[in-house]
Amino acid sequence: MAKRSRKEGEGHEERCNICGRPASIVDYLVPGPVGNLCNECATTVHNAVERAKSVEKQVSKFQLPSITDLPKPKEIVEYLDHYVIGQEDAKKTLAVAVYNHYKRLIYRDQQRYKDIKEVNDVELEKSNIMVVGPTGTGKTLLARTIARMLNVPFTIVDATVFTQAGYVGEDVESILTRLLQVADYNVEAAERGIVFIDEIDKIARKADNPSITRDVGGEGVQQGMLKLLEGTDVNVPPQGGRKHPEQRMVVVNTENILFICGGAFDGLEKKIAKRLNTRMVGYANELRYTNVEEGDSLLKYVVPSDLRSYGLIPELIGRVPVLTYLTPLGREALRAILTEPSNAIAKQYKKLMELENVELRIDDEVYDLIVDKALDLKTGARGLRSIFEEIMREVMYDAPSSNKKIVRVTRSFAEKHMRVKDARLDLIG
Ligand code: ADP
Repeated sequence: MAKRSRKEGEGHEERCNICGRPASIVDYLVPGPVGNLCNECATTVHNAVERAKSVEKQVSKFQLPSITDLPKPKEIVEYLDHYVIGQEDAKKTLAVAVYNHYKRLIYRDQQRYKDIKEVNDVELEKSNIMVVGPTGTGKTLLARTIARMLNVPFTIVDATVFTQAGYVGEDVESILTRLLQVADYNVEAAERGIVFIDEIDKIARKADNPSITRDVGGEGVQQGMLKLLEGTDVNVPPQGGRKHPEQRMVVVNTENILFICGGAFDGLEKKIAKRLNTRMVGYANELRYTNVEEGDSLLKYVVPSDLRSYGLIPELIGRVPVLTYLTPLGREALRAILTEPSNAIAKQYKKLMELENVELRIDDEVYDLIVDKALDLKTGARGLRSIFEEIMREVMYDAPSSNKKIVRVTRSFAEKHMRVKDARLDLIG
């Protein structure tokens, strides 16, 4: 490349073939396959290509896969197995429901480009999902993990934010604002996202029989959610509501958003038992149900009418037709959660220490101790992390300033540094 290559002797100056400027007034003129290119035009072209690439990347980041690329239910379960311990029935049900949901969207996308609708065309309806199960057993984790695998925008909302005003309330808009934000403001992507509605049981009607104690609040809130679940246009402030009153609203349609509702439904087992005509037998600390296998959770037998007797209105149940359950996590499952998933807490700490060139060894008894305490707390796997962190704080404090190459955590060390009372406060607060 010649700087300011000039062929003045020949009576003319070489020029850039794009902007036409002569070599004497640009910094560089580069000979290309079909003429010359100046440095400024080269930069402009380069920037344009980069911009096009980034737009393409953004669009494809949340692109709907083709039917052949959509992970099959079995593949979805295999992926979930890396992150979620147990809960086999829920994994299968969710995998099938989510697969069918996106298959339906792909199908509809294809239909859009056909001019004539076939007469016998089957209308595939959306199937939102209801997950019942005790707190800390993996409801949110399952939903979040599936969304990550499918690379669709995902957000969590607490059902208690819904007011009787229903889907027009500001809170509902803010859910969709969040979804829009995680979708990088790609409306089409947000409209195919997944929203996890937590604590759906908290908006149940309190009394079994509505004619005795009408709990209008619960019922009204449920009524308000119906349209959102089914599909409606919502005016969404992309930057969030209050701070930017001047912003232009974006319309987000919820018809193709998959809603996964989760709730602990405390006391639901009793209702199931009643329906199954099963009695609780045994002494207080070892209650079990007759007719039910030992170690089995009655939630396994849940049917939509149980949700109705719990206080969900039939219209809501009808809009969340796929029903599945999670079982309480026993000792073995909790133990596995500490060490087995791809992002298990123990693995994370070991990695952190590895970055300091320190090998972290944790005695098996330490895990047993943590599991015992987590079982005491009755918050499923939620307690595990806070207990673990309490123990590890001291190690993480000392390790970076010491020159030890191996750190071993023993049971007696763990006992000394475990203040479960504090952990319990953390959890409640
Ligand atoms: P919830 O059922 O109340 O929605 P979460 O899914 O939020 O519970 O679980 C809380 C945390 O506990 C998760 O982030 C995860 O670390 C852990 N956890 C819960 N259940 C499981 C499970 N089955 N397998 C692996 N980790 C779990």
